[in-house]
Amino acid sequence: MCGIVGYIGTKKACPILLAGLTRLEYRGYDSAGISTIEKDCIKIVKDKGRVKELENKKEIKDLQGTVGIAHTRWATHGKPSKENAHPHKDNSNTFSVVHNGIIENYYDLRNLLEENGYKFYSETDTEVIPNLIHYYYKKELAINNEHTVQTFLRVVRNACLDIKGSYALEIISKDFPEYMIVVRKDSPLVIGTCKDEKYISSDIPAILSYTRDFYFLNDLEFAVLKNDDIKFYDTNLNQIDKKISNIEWDAMSSEKNGYEDFMLKEIYEQPTAIRETIGSRISVDNKCEFEELPLTKKELENIDKIYIIACGTAMHAGLAGKNVIEKLCRIPTEVDIASEFRYRDPIINNRTLSIFISQSGETADTIAALKLAKKSGSKTIAISNVIGSSITREADYSIYTHAGPEIAVASTKAYTSQVILVNMLAIYFAEILEKSNKEEIRNLKKEILELPKKIGETFNCAERIKQFAKKIYQEKDVFFLGRGIDETVAKEGSLKLKEISYIHSESYPAGELKHGPIALIESGITVIGILTDKLLVDKTVNNIQEVITRGARTLIITNQNVNYSMFDEVIIIPKVNTFLSPILSIIPLQLLAYYISKEKGLDVDKPRNLAKSVTVE
Ligand code: GLU
Repeated sequence: MCGIVGYIGTKKACPILLAGLTRLEYRGYDSAGISTIEKDCIKIVKDKGRVKELENKKEIKDLQGTVGIAHTRWATHGKPSKENAHPHKDNSNTFSVVHNGIIENYYDLRNLLEENGYKFYSETDTEVIPNLIHYYYKKELAINNEHTVQTFLRVVRNACLDIKGSYALEIISKDFPEYMIVVRKDSPLVIGTCKDEKYISSDIPAILSYTRDFYFLNDLEFAVLKNDDIKFYDTNLNQIDKKISNIEWDAMSSEKNGYEDFMLKEIYEQPTAIRETIGSRISVDNKCEFEELPLTKKELENIDKIYIIACGTAMHAGLAGKNVIEKLCRIPTEVDIASEFRYRDPIINNRTLSIFISQSGETADTIAALKLAKKSGSKTIAISNVIGSSITREADYSIYTHAGPEIAVASTKAYTSQVILVNMLAIYFAEILEKSNKEEIRNLKKEILELPKKIGETFNCAERIKQFAKKIYQEKDVFFLGRGIDETVAKEGSLKLKEISYIHSESYPAGELKHGPIALIESGITVIGILTDKLLVDKTVNNIQEVITRGARTLIITNQNVNYSMFDEVIIIPKVNTFLSPILSIIPLQLLAYYISKEKGLDVDKPRNLAKSVTVE
């Protein structure tokens, strides 16, 4: 959600900033802007609309400076407009700021500043920040007229101490033209470093073509950047040390590689992504390994409840993994939506283990839920795809999916890699606890290792799914049905369809149909059934029979023996252990959402109103 980019170096900043903003477009935004330092004054070019439009503006050619900040805005306070677009500056044109997040006490701060003579030209919460910095700057200058970068740092820090809410900030100043200060709290920001250049971004892929060496800031740590230097400070302005992390992803993996859209590329990357997630953690004859999770048998025996907490697709991955944990570890496991969990006074103590799943690791609600669980004594594990992301810094233990960068807003490969990771965690815990049947675990491991190949085979359905998409792309409502683990896939399939095709869809446990939703079934309505659980397949078939009787058009995803002639379209996927079936059965549904969106001529990778990483509540 929103993107920020910064550059301080020896080259012209503007083209680098524009390229960075373009790479961050997938996050969703409504306006864009750039600010650079030009011969001791600050210039800003901004407007509502796309980055391309910003790039084509006449004034953009005037930006020659080598220090600059840039922003794509996803409006929270004030409509998308030129005035509300970032960067924002203070009344004296000394400081320019871009901000990702929400200033919760902006109203009080704005009043305070107005009482002190400051004027506001936008409706944003952000505009208080440069003015508050200037307010402290004026005070400093009144006491002593010293102009060192420490003054710049001190006034930024003072402003941050007054601000409540979430922020990733980049600040430049005409009075300190060789510097930039960045700070974050509950919003993402990474710093890439090379010898004479520093790059800032909301995420790693946007600047991966310039460097592999990154610094990650914790909440309320300040970085003072110069082209050839970088210093870090805590809130007391004590200098702190930070380690460089080397990122192994290659820049190409964040490009489209010949695919028409990132989503399609990411769907087809699933065999590789899953292989990376499995890594060397699983082999048939050895115990499952999670070096990053050194839990002892005693510690695990102490756990009497597991929570899996996440939002959206990641929550669906949690639902798909709940059964395997309960089956293999015999520990009650509850899956919760992060935004609900954090406000419902959940029962947590030191016998609780809480697992948080977030592709980006920056999901605001998931981070807040994690902080709550930790405070209440729970052990916490983060599952994320992004090294050094916020949840991984907060949690006691972090495990990475290693699925590679996911750019399309609608998650595909991150989901399947999360499902496989939760399955592997269940095996890992079960082996430490010595609880379950060794043969059962051995078989599950074998099947995990066969998954990449079976995903490859599942892609054979693509053409038939494409044809089916052509038949139903103008539908208004679609229903997804399943039982047990298939119902969790119904939920995810329905979400995919909504996200990128804007078709209204519902998912139901098939047995619930008669308790209400069947009233909506009429001639021609599309019902999609997922049938992979041998024990439940006959029951689901009966439910689908009921909608066929009422005139529904049906698509079935199955690996079971059913009477295919009953249905309008049947997609057969490879046979697989039921715990792992979501990894295969979701693929036709990902493709269906994709082809319907294409058929409707929509922007698959950047659906309206959605953002890739939901960094606000
Ligand atoms: N709250 C700020 C605004 O509405 C920043 C939003 C964002 O993160 O893009 O301008």
